[in-house]
Amino acid sequence: MRLVALKAPVTDKPRADDFAVINADRPACPDGGVVARVLFISLDPYVGSRLRGRHMGEPAPAPLDEAIPGAIVGEVVESRTPAIKEGDAVHSMNGGWAEFVALGEADCRRLDRALAPLSAHLGVLGMPGLTAWAGVSQLAKIEDGETFLVDAAAGAVGGSAGQIARNLGAGTVVGVAGGPEKCGLVEREYGFDRCVDYKRDGWRDALRDAVGDPAAGGGVDAFFENVSADMATTALLNAKPCVRGVLCGLVANYHDADQAQHPLNAGLLIGKRAQLFGLVVYDFYPRWDEYVAEAAAWLRDGRLTIVEDRAEGLDAAPALFEKLMDGRNIGKCVVALDPDA
Ligand code: NDP
Repeated sequence: MRLVALKAPVTDKPRADDFAVINADRPACPDGGVVARVLFISLDPYVGSRLRGRHMGEPAPAPLDEAIPGAIVGEVVESRTPAIKEGDAVHSMNGGWAEFVALGEADCRRLDRALAPLSAHLGVLGMPGLTAWAGVSQLAKIEDGETFLVDAAAGAVGGSAGQIARNLGAGTVVGVAGGPEKCGLVEREYGFDRCVDYKRDGWRDALRDAVGDPAAGGGVDAFFENVSADMATTALLNAKPCVRGVLCGLVANYHDADQAQHPLNAGLLIGKRAQLFGLVVYDFYPRWDEYVAEAAAWLRDGRLTIVEDRAEGLDAAPALFEKLMDGRNIGKCVVALDPDA
């Protein structure tokens, strides 16, 4: 079988050239586990940090000559557990960029093929969707009529967060994203009221127009931060008193030499009486099925939209990953190994 591995340890933001497709033995089926043929691979920002040993879930750098770690959806081809049968579709956060992966039973969630296209379990029904739901419904606890702000709004987490906020009653949903194509998608496909392009001059004024001036009774009730402390500061400057802020990601800073260099202004937090919530999606894994049940209904009635930035074949994974690392992706990055699945 084939897999994608690192050619050498990475010390900076990974580029497509850092990876090679190599041949390896198909993994043996573990006792109490399965071997799955990989149908779809998820590419996520945390993998860039993970490869360098800078991710909270796994502090060691990724080993060479092994498949790049990542979430997958696959079809079971061999099983040594009664809980999972050959032919079952499974999702795992502990898969990799490979044609076949060996998984323990505890690492697999069995999927209902009738619920949604299988690749959706890597995006809106997957870890990014669960992250969005956790932040919006469990931490920010969005309420009817409120104004909600999210950045990286064209991506899997940000796009889902805005749609979920709307589904849970938000009155005004505003996104921030880079470039007209992304902003158009956020407004047209995701149905946000407004998406502000932060690459345009005057975008801070446009954002204030979109959320309303806090000095005149407008402003943000709840925000969801994916990008940086600078962006969170912008959200706070446009916030109502007692704003709730979910700190989910700092993707603009993941590859900085010193990640501690990005403080939030304590005076601003005090003045706004802000409540901030750090979000770690692992805490919500036990509620994944609950989320999927709620989100599948939204998918069915068109209130949650799937947008994928998709590549086909293992060889295409490194280039799509470089695009994600550069923030040029539009929607959830997925590599399809079997596009017919
Ligand atoms: P996206 O698909 O949204 O991709 C990242 C986006 O971030 C880019 O497309 C880009 O959009 C924006 N961006 C801004 N600055 C940069 C930069 N310097 N380099 C790269 N991208 C940049 O990713 P996800 O939806 O998968 O994830 C969104 C955030 O959520 C990330 O920070 C991720 O790490 C975090 N996350 C956190 C979890 C947790 O448990 N806390 C779990 C899952 C994800 P634009 O051009 O619009 O700025």
